[in-house]
Amino acid sequence: MPLKRIGYWFETPGVDSKYPLPQVLQTEYSTEQRNRLSQYLREGSRINQYRGYSWCRFGCGECDEKMGSAELTDGTWVWPEGLAHYVSEHSVSLPAEFVNGIRSRKPLAADAESPVSDEAWVSWAIEQGAVPDFRGWELLNTSWLSQKETQQRLIDAIKQTAYGDLVLPEYDFVFGVAVNKESLECLIELTDGRYVCCRVSEFSRTLVPNVESMREVNSMLEWPRIPAGSDRQH
Ligand SMILES: [Zn+2]
Repeated sequence: MPLKRIGYWFETPGVDSKYPLPQVLQTEYSTEQRNRLSQYLREGSRINQYRGYSWCRFGCGECDEKMGSAELTDGTWVWPEGLAHYVSEHSVSLPAEFVNGIRSRKPLAADAESPVSDEAWVSWAIEQGAVPDFRGWELLNTSWLSQKETQQRLIDAIKQTAYGDLVLPEYDFVFGVAVNKESLECLIELTDGRYVCCRVSEFSRTLVPNVESMREVNSMLEWPRIPAGSDRQH
């Protein structure tokens, strides 16, 4: 069983973060619950050391060094050392599966080479509405490419899936932002800043705007709904 990784937050606002906003996860833990949970989080054993320090997504002024640069584990879960701060200072909730287990769990060390999965964290965060569902979407790194190269990259990515020749719509677009190889959709940023979600048409072999997906695209565009540095409870 891979170690279950929790406590990771969005990096950059935009479609390139699959991790949640802690602001959406604030809850009413009692002082006792908060203390017990944050103490447990502080007492994990060290497993991975990173070079850079983390930073508080609430922008509360806690210094980065205190947010830490290591990961801790109890042998089942693995989390960044700054996670205790989110619980104790900002009352950020964690998955019930983790919280309910801390009384009975006997903390163990774990091998730094252990496989790790963040799947449980991401799907929990999606259920809580703390991150749009980006599963299945693959970001295309096209920022340094010309428009022609970007178009080609997009065509190649989609073509790998099921269809041969594809014709792109007559949009004057600059960026192919993301591709979903399961639903055969792609997200295109137009030169005027709008986004369009297109789906491969089996009949015309073209990418056509997919109205049903626009809701999902809009949720990506609203992201993050609460900017880093704000704390809606204070
Ligand atoms: Zn903070």
